Amino acid sequence: MTMLSTTNDSIVIRQITDENLKLAKEYVLQGKLVAFPTETVYGLGANAFLDDAIRQCFYLKGRPTDNPLIVHVHKDYDISTLVYVDKPYQKELIKAFMPGPITLVFNSRGKVSDLVSCGLKTLAIRMPSSQGAQSFLKAVNLPIAAPSANLSKHTSPVTAEHVFADFGQKIPMILDGGRCEGGIESTVVDVTGDYPIILRKGLVTAQMIARVTGKCTYANQDSSLNARSPGTKYKHYCPKTQTAVFEHGNFEDVIKLYNQTISQNKTAVIMCREQDACHFKGLNVFSLGETGNQMAARLYFGLREAERFDLAIGYKFPITDEVMLSVENRFLKAFG
Ligand code: AMP
Ligand code: MG
Repeated sequence: MTMLSTTNDSIVIRQITDENLKLAKEYVLQGKLVAFPTETVYGLGANAFLDDAIRQCFYLKGRPTDNPLIVHVHKDYDISTLVYVDKPYQKELIKAFMPGPITLVFNSRGKVSDLVSCGLKTLAIRMPSSQGAQSFLKAVNLPIAAPSANLSKHTSPVTAEHVFADFGQKIPMILDGGRCEGGIESTVVDVTGDYPIILRKGLVTAQMIARVTGKCTYANQDSSLNARSPGTKYKHYCPKTQTAVFEHGNFEDVIKLYNQTISQNKTAVIMCREQDACHFKGLNVFSLGETGNQMAARLYFGLREAERFDLAIGYKFPITDEVMLSVENRFLKAFG
């Protein structure tokens, strides 16, 4: 007997068509989760008004329940219905950077499920710029709480296949928008005070924000400010393979470990800046590119590719632009 075979991923991974967006909306209204592409990474979307949907989101990811979620809305959504937008600099930031890879943390009006912000009085809002994200958010026309669509601690997903690798058929739909361009998560900025404070580094940098608002600082990772963004304290972004990391300049030890690994009949890959790849000629190298933006776009893809090898070796890099600081933050957590 012959059977028509359909691969499982083709049932879950869907092109962004009107028909599939309609189905996505039905799922979201029913409290089911839909993964969708953004310009940074894929998000695991849940109806922000439904406690059960948010609970499921934490449960499926294995996410610590004190790590709040970001609410995503389309570009024409009136965010002042969800949060208090009452400072001139907040409006300037919205005008300058939204839609885009930035998340603003406001005082909440308490309209969405309390579980989204894990009991905090604030709510994080993001307006992703990619067409796929906008199509999905417009179709549902609801605030969508969405963490990155990976199992907790694992490398964030930048393709629909990455999402499927983590969740399989545990979610009914993954909207496929191809590979994300930005590659690392949004910059999270606290805008509840007199000036913006960056809680999580990203593609929008302090200098870019300060050009608009006059002042912007990074929350000191060691100070009490860190508690304002609970997520930053957790282990993150780790590929599912053995890792090692070496200081920039110490390429001899990288080669030594690589060769040791090969001699044990195992495989290894070195992840480094393009400018440093010359030290590792003839070895498996995943080049991150030259600039901070290039490196951001390639980092998570590279970390997922690295899972095909027994060992991933990170070769640290000097910081030559501000976005590289954000890349370094993820790189060190992934290899740490
Ligand atoms: P992820 O969903 O994995 O991209 O992580 C979301 C990030 O946003 C974490 O670092 C959270 O701590 C941060 N975040 C979300 N909501 C808030 C909030 N209300 N206040 C401060 N940080 C937040
Ligand atoms: Mg995440």
